[in-house]
Amino acid sequence: MASGDQPVRKVTIVGGGTAGWMTAAVLSQWLSQVEVTLVESEEIGTIGVGEATIPHIRNYLALAGIDALKMISETKATFKLGIQFVDWGAPGESYIHGFGKIGRDMLWLHPHQLWLAARERAPGSVKPFDHYSIAGAAALRNRFAFPDKRNPNSPIADLEYAYHFDASLFARFLRAESEARGVTRVEGRIVETLQDSETGFVTGVRLQDGRELDGDLFVDCSGMRALLIGDAVGVGYEHWNKWLICDRALAVPCGSVSPLTPYVRCTTRSAGWQWRIPLQHRIGNGYVYSSNFVSDDEAAATLLSSLDAAPLADPRPVRFAPGVRGKAWEKNVVAIGLSSGFLEPLESTSIHLIQTGIHKLLALFPATGFSQPDINEYNRQARFEFEDVRDFIIAHYNVTRRSGEPFWDYVRTMDVPDTLSERYELFRSSGRFFKHGAAELFAEESWVQVLLGQGFEATADPVAQFVPTEEIVGFLDDMAEIIADVAESLPDHGDFISRLPSSTSKAQDAVATSTLMHNLAEVHR
Ligand code: FAD
Repeated sequence: MASGDQPVRKVTIVGGGTAGWMTAAVLSQWLSQVEVTLVESEEIGTIGVGEATIPHIRNYLALAGIDALKMISETKATFKLGIQFVDWGAPGESYIHGFGKIGRDMLWLHPHQLWLAARERAPGSVKPFDHYSIAGAAALRNRFAFPDKRNPNSPIADLEYAYHFDASLFARFLRAESEARGVTRVEGRIVETLQDSETGFVTGVRLQDGRELDGDLFVDCSGMRALLIGDAVGVGYEHWNKWLICDRALAVPCGSVSPLTPYVRCTTRSAGWQWRIPLQHRIGNGYVYSSNFVSDDEAAATLLSSLDAAPLADPRPVRFAPGVRGKAWEKNVVAIGLSSGFLEPLESTSIHLIQTGIHKLLALFPATGFSQPDINEYNRQARFEFEDVRDFIIAHYNVTRRSGEPFWDYVRTMDVPDTLSERYELFRSSGRFFKHGAAELFAEESWVQVLLGQGFEATADPVAQFVPTEEIVGFLDDMAEIIADVAESLPDHGDFISRLPSSTSKAQDAVATSTLMHNLAEVHR
C-alpha cells in the first residue's frame, strides 16, 4: 500500500523480541482476516533482558488467549508481589513497593493519611508503611497465593501479582503460540526499507538474500535500532538524559538460592542500582549505571561481587538512551517496544508499555485505511504514557537523602519536570495525592509507598484532625495485625510454584482441593 487509503489486510512485524512476538500473538488472536508476518534475524538476536512485569501483564495474557499456567511452566516464571528498594532513602534503609491496595480506608481517609497523622500525633505508634500492604507483608515473608475472591473482607481478596519470567523463553513461547495461529515467521536480516517515492509510506523490506516482504501496515519491533520508524520514515528521538542519567547496564544470571523470593530487589550502587529477579531455574541480575560516574570494569566488579551464587555467564553489556520517539506512529509504521522509547527497568514498565502499544493499535486499527486523527490519538496517548512513567522513575532518584556521592548528589539536587514538582508540593503540604487522570499507570498507592518509603517529609492531611488520635492508632494497629496474620498463613512461594500444574487441562485433571480449584480459576481470569 503506497497511500494508506485502503483497508489493512497484511501486517508485517519487523523484529522478534518480546515486543514483536507479543504483538504477533494478539493480532493473530483477534484480527482473523489480517495476514500477519514476522521477520527476525537470529544473527542479530534480541536484547534478551526484560524479565519482571507488573500486574497488568495478566490482562495481556488474557487478551492474547494465553494459558497462564502453561506460560509459567514454559518460561520458568515465578510470582511477583512488588519491588524491594534497598538503600534508596538512605544507606541501611529498605521498603517494599507492593502491588495493589494498602490496607483499608477510614471514611474518606486513605491509609497513608492515617499513617502520617498517627506518626505526627503519636510518635512511635506506627510501623513501617509496607506493613499495611498485604503484598508487602507477604513478600517480606516469601509467601504467595492467588487472591481469594470468596473472602471479600480478607486482605487476600485484593492481592495483586505479576510474573518474573525468562525473557528468551517468553519470546519463544509466544512464537510457538503465534505460529500455531497462523503467523508466518521469516528468518533474515533486513538490509533495506522500501518506500513509496511520493508518500513515503513503507512498501516493503529487503532481506540480505534479496527476498522482499511487503505489507500494508508495518510494526517496528526492531528494538533500539528503530529500522523503520527512525531510519526509514525519519522520526527523531527525544533524550531524557538530564533526568535519567543511567545509560548502560550489565546483565548476568547466577544460580538459584533458597528461599524463592516473590519480588524484585533493586539495590542502590555508587553510580546507579542493581536488580535481582528470581526465576525458577536461576536469578537474573544486572547493574544499571551511568558511564559518567563509573567505568565498565568497576561496574562489572561491583555486580559480580554481589551475586547470591556463582555467575552462569559473563556479564553482558547493554547501552541505552533514555527517552521517547517523537511519534510512535508515522505513516504506515507503528513503533512498539524499544523502537518507541526507553525507560530504565526500575519499575518494570517496558513490557507494560509494549502491552499498551498493542492495546492502542487494536483500538485504533486502520481497518478501512489510515486516518490522521487515529494516528494523532495514538501518538498523544503513547507520549502521555511515557512521560507518566518517566516522572515516577525520576522520583525514585530524586527523593533520596544519600549524599557525598557524585551520582546521588546530582540526582538529589537536579531540577525535575514541573509535572513532578507539582505532585511533590501537594503531598508535602497536606499528604494529599491524586492521580491526574485514569490513564496514569501508577496509582496513589504506588506513589505514596515510594515517597514515604524513601523518607519524603509530608505533613499530615489537616482533615485527619477530625478523627481522634486513639481511633486512628487503633485502626492502623488492627490493620497491620490482620495483614500480618493473613500473610503468615499463605503458602511458601517456592512450594506454591512447585505444586502448580503445567497447563489448564492438567489443572482440570488434577484439581485436588477446593482452594486449589479456586486459585487456578483465578489464573485464568
Ligand atoms: P529486541 O529484543 O532488541 O528485539 C529486536 C528484534 O529486531 C530482534 O528480533 C532482532 O533480531 C530484530 N532485528 C533488528 N534489526 C534487524 C534487522 N536488520 N533485520 C531483521 N531483524 C532485525 N522491561 C520490563 O518490562 N521489565 C524488565 O525487568 C526489564 N529489564 C530490562 C533491563 C535492561 C538492562 C534493559 C536494557 C531493558 C529492560 N527491559 C525490561 C525492557 C525490555 O527488555 C524490552 O522492552 C523488551 O525486551 C522488548 O524489546 P524489543 O522486542 O523492543 O527489542
